[in-house]
This record gives sequence, C-alpha cells and structure tokens, in this order.
Amino acid sequence: MKIAKMLPEAHRSEHIRWLRAAVLGANDGIVSTASLIVGVAAANSSHQNILLTGIAGLVAGAMSMASGEYVSVSSQADTENADLAREKAELATNVEFERAELAQIYVGRGLEPGLAAKVAEQLMAHDALGSHARDELGITEALSARPVQAALASAGAFSVGAAMPLMMALISSPKNLIAVVSVASLVFLILLGVLAARVGGANAWKGAVRVGFWGALAMAITAGIGSIFGTVV
Ligand SMILES: [Zn+2]
Repeated sequence: MKIAKMLPEAHRSEHIRWLRAAVLGANDGIVSTASLIVGVAAANSSHQNILLTGIAGLVAGAMSMASGEYVSVSSQADTENADLAREKAELATNVEFERAELAQIYVGRGLEPGLAAKVAEQLMAHDALGSHARDELGITEALSARPVQAALASAGAFSVGAAMPLMMALISSPKNLIAVVSVASLVFLILLGVLAARVGGANAWKGAVRVGFWGALAMAITAGIGSIFGTVV
C-alpha cells in the first residue's frame, strides 16, 4: 500500500518543477515584450514598427532563453555524466569500499547497520551504478538534465508569454495601444503570479502583487525612456 502511494508524489514534484519554469519563462516573455512595445509606442513609432519590434522581441527573447537554458542545463549534464563515470570507475576498482559507503548512507537515513549492509548488498547486486547514482549522488532518471527539452520548454514558455502583449498591440488602435497593452499585460502577469504561487503552495496574492509590481515598473520605465527618445530623436 505504502509503495503505491509514493509513486505519484515523485511525479508531482517533477511536474511542479517544469510548471514553475514555464510560468517564469512566460513571465519573462510578457514583461520584456510588453515593455518593448510600450517603450517604442511611447516614442511615437508607427503601428507597423511597434508590431515589428514586438515580433523581433519575441524571437530574440525566445532564442536567448533557449540558448541560455541549453548552455546551463548542458553543463549540469556534463557534471552529472562526469560524476557517473567516476562512480563507475570506483565501483570497478573498489567495490567493497563502495558497498560500505552505500551502507553508511542508509545508516545515516536511520537503518540499523546490519539491515543497511544487507540493503546495500541487494541493491548493488540489482543495479550498482543506479543505486549509487540515486542514493549517493542524488541523480535520478526523473531529475536528470535534459538540455534540448529544457531549451525548447523555455523558448516555448517565453513565446507564449510574449505573444500576449503582441496580440494586444495587434488588435488595439494606435491611440489606445499603450493603455491596452499595459493593462492587459498586468492582468496576464497577475494571473500568472497567482498560478505560480498556487503551484508552489505559497500565498497567491503576495505572488500576484510581486509580479504585478515589477511588471508595472518595467513598463513604466521603458515608456518613460521611450517618450524621452520620442521627443529627442
Ligand atoms: Zn559510491
């Protein structure tokens, strides 16, 4: 009974990790693209140029998120692979020491020494590298680094976020554009903030106010700079 109950929990935390990354990616997409659009609009640019800027911002942002994520997760994968290779070599050259080390880990988790030694022996007989990877290095199949997946997820989340203010810019008239894009983007941000807080089990309103504040600040500063440039240039 207990084992069956464990499995869904492990999958849930993995989903939460991905969901949180997606919410943060979308948040970046909304804030950076909405700020770009509002800034260029405040500089009295044509509707066409505003849309062009929004599209360029979406593509550039998605690419930079993807490349950043790919690079950082790849280096995590490199570290994991190096650790696994070292572990494999140690298992080949010093299996007695490795068995004792694993048993010690289980003693540290509360098993009495005799049982810990037995568990270590049986798990290593079944899958020596897997048991050391999981219990000594903390590397599991579910949490192992997947650079391409992470890069695609990050670019996708950013693009979905960026598409929201871009859609607002597309459907609004030049006269109302700044107001429509700002208000709609703040609403999207607050909804995302509530979602992120809910997913993480945190206070929804605190999360919403936090992203709303920073989103509003980013748009206000960019609009200010845009309007200065609009008059100067
Ligand atoms: Zn080991």
